[in-house]
Amino acid sequence: MNFSELPSTLQSALTERGYSEPTDVQAAVLEPEAHGRDLVVSAQTGSGKTVAFGLAFARQLLDDSGKVPFPAAPLALVITPTRELALQVSRELSWLYAKAGGRVATCVGGMNPSQERKALRSGATIVVGTPGRLRDHLERGALDLSALKAATLDEADEMLDMGFREELETILDATPEGRRTLLFSATMPKPIEALARRYQSNALRISTVSAD
Ligand code: ADP
Ligand code: MG
Repeated sequence: MNFSELPSTLQSALTERGYSEPTDVQAAVLEPEAHGRDLVVSAQTGSGKTVAFGLAFARQLLDDSGKVPFPAAPLALVITPTRELALQVSRELSWLYAKAGGRVATCVGGMNPSQERKALRSGATIVVGTPGRLRDHLERGALDLSALKAATLDEADEMLDMGFREELETILDATPEGRRTLLFSATMPKPIEALARRYQSNALRISTVSAD
């Protein structure tokens, strides 16, 4: 599977960035058997998981012309363990979706919450944030998850290690039935299995971590 099967809006963003070939994990999530499925993905650090989940939910965001329709509410959510990682993921998804007209809102501790609320109200396609801040916005009614198509946990292992289970459950419990749940991690410890059982159905497991 390569990038040439993607909508031209994404393909040209990747080409301009100098990404000519998908990494293993990116190729795996683009396989037809992964389309529309819940995913549990383990792949080592540096393997390109950010673009992998960015591409994994592309079909839920883009119309037939490869554009993101102006959404009534966010369509994709990415939860990350730290502020730094959220900012990094936001930057990566911003260039990936720029030509498609996708907008990314970032919700992290230490930023001005009223600015974040404004960004959430003004047509964000993708929301990226840390568990505590996302839950705050949710509980104050600033984050509308009613139209969500894909909930992504990045570094799910880290988030559980850091004690974010409750926040994650509150957020996931507020997402609609029928949304995809995408769990990405470098390792797959037991607690992730519990999340997978509760929030996924018939998930496809992808592991590019070698057995040796
Ligand atoms: P992970 O989350 O698995 O640790 P990242 O998503 O942070 O990995 O990506 C690691 C590095 O690889 C980043 O610098 C990213 O820009 C780069 N990268 C990702 N995909 C590709 C690709 N297809 N071609 C070239 N570089 C890539
Ligand atoms: Mg990563």
